[in-house]
Amino acid sequence: MPEDHESVIKAIYTGSEFVESATTGDDVGIVLESTSFYAEQGGQIFDIGSLDGPFGSFQVCNVQIFGGFVLHIGSLSGVTVKFSVRDKVTCKVDYDRRGLIAPNHTCTHMLNYALREVLGNHVDQKGSIVLPEKLRFDFSHDPNRDGAINADHLRKIESIVNEQIKSELDVYSKEATLAEAKRINGLRAVFGEVYPDPVRVVAIGKKVEDLLADPENIEWSSISSELCGGTHITNTREARAFALLSEEGIAKGVRRITAVTTESALKAMELGGQLLKEVDDASKLEVCLLEKLLFYSKLFCFKASPVVPVFLYFFAPLQKVASVKTSVDSASIPAAQKADIRAKIAQLQNQLKRAQKKIAEQNMQKAVATATELAEVAAKEGKTFYVTRIDIGLDAAALREAVSKVIQQKGMPVMIFSIDETTNKAVVYAGGRCGRGKGGLATGQGTDISHVNDAMDLATSFASMKLT
Ligand SMILES: [Zn+2]
Repeated sequence: MPEDHESVIKAIYTGSEFVESATTGDDVGIVLESTSFYAEQGGQIFDIGSLDGPFGSFQVCNVQIFGGFVLHIGSLSGVTVKFSVRDKVTCKVDYDRRGLIAPNHTCTHMLNYALREVLGNHVDQKGSIVLPEKLRFDFSHDPNRDGAINADHLRKIESIVNEQIKSELDVYSKEATLAEAKRINGLRAVFGEVYPDPVRVVAIGKKVEDLLADPENIEWSSISSELCGGTHITNTREARAFALLSEEGIAKGVRRITAVTTESALKAMELGGQLLKEVDDASKLEVCLLEKLLFYSKLFCFKASPVVPVFLYFFAPLQKVASVKTSVDSASIPAAQKADIRAKIAQLQNQLKRAQKKIAEQNMQKAVATATELAEVAAKEGKTFYVTRIDIGLDAAALREAVSKVIQQKGMPVMIFSIDETTNKAVVYAGGRCGRGKGGLATGQGTDISHVNDAMDLATSFASMKLT
């Protein structure tokens, strides 16, 4: 950790004028003889910390470059004291916070390099923000002109940065004249930006001296070198990991990448892995259910009844997939991983939809077959109606079809109940002369399946009174 820096107050600025002294509670900007604070520039956020002196501790909450000077903006709190020009201070930068910014800045350089590697030479930096918690990088790329950026591209970009982290490359920086620096093959600079002269060159994996000694060397195009005055880690291993969380368009021809490093990146990758596993588990469950369905359909070929409520087996996985989908949408996980998971979920949902459709068709067929068979038996026994139960869950459409078919083909009033054990609900459809409602059909729902038998008895006696 760098040592605290000793300095002297050279000027105090109130926002409108320079003053000789200020007091507790005044919001002012302090100019020092020299400073260890980093002012916001080149996309890197300012340092925070304090200027400690005999007067107490002036809290620095913002540092900006103003008219060529570094302005330490903040205030003094506590008991009322005065601080003045020529007071001695100790610069205490919050180095823990800067420690979070440095890996993000170095990874921004590696990302800039990786983008050109994967997407092509048209990629230019359009802006960047390096914060303690994340980094954001804007670059020129028009999907219509340069092609869409897909999950594979994102995965490749992410892995180039992670390979550089794993390679434990030293990060070098050195000042050079602007003209010399600009000759370095592959050097990245922001177009239109005014750079100081001399300028600082930051190179990853190669000494700046080596680059300057042989600037046109073709080898330099495969390393990251940039004009930059920011704070960096000394070796790429300190970044530990890089996770590219999102990629989106923000203006015509300008895309934005948001990424995290160190602990946040490791967490994002771990969470992504977990979610992927959940989807894979749900897929396995799904395959097992489809097999079950197939088994039952074979069973039905030999036995006309009873219809097994296969529908039940499909509620749980559907809910599971829906909940994984919601957590994936809001999760802080690598964008490439997110795309993979979304594709798997879509596939799974399609499978489930097809299976549901198959079950619905099957319910319909079985309900109709069973109901017509029972109608024939009832007719043979001289009955004028019948009440029965065919368990196909809450599939009212299948019941309705069965009732309609019995009326149509047998001309017999019928009432069919069905229960669903998972929701403890029952549904009933009735048709014929005992039914009211549209087209001679009536439907109802119950919320306690334990009363279904009572209801069936009641319906039977009621119908007997009316129909015989
Ligand atoms: Zn930089």
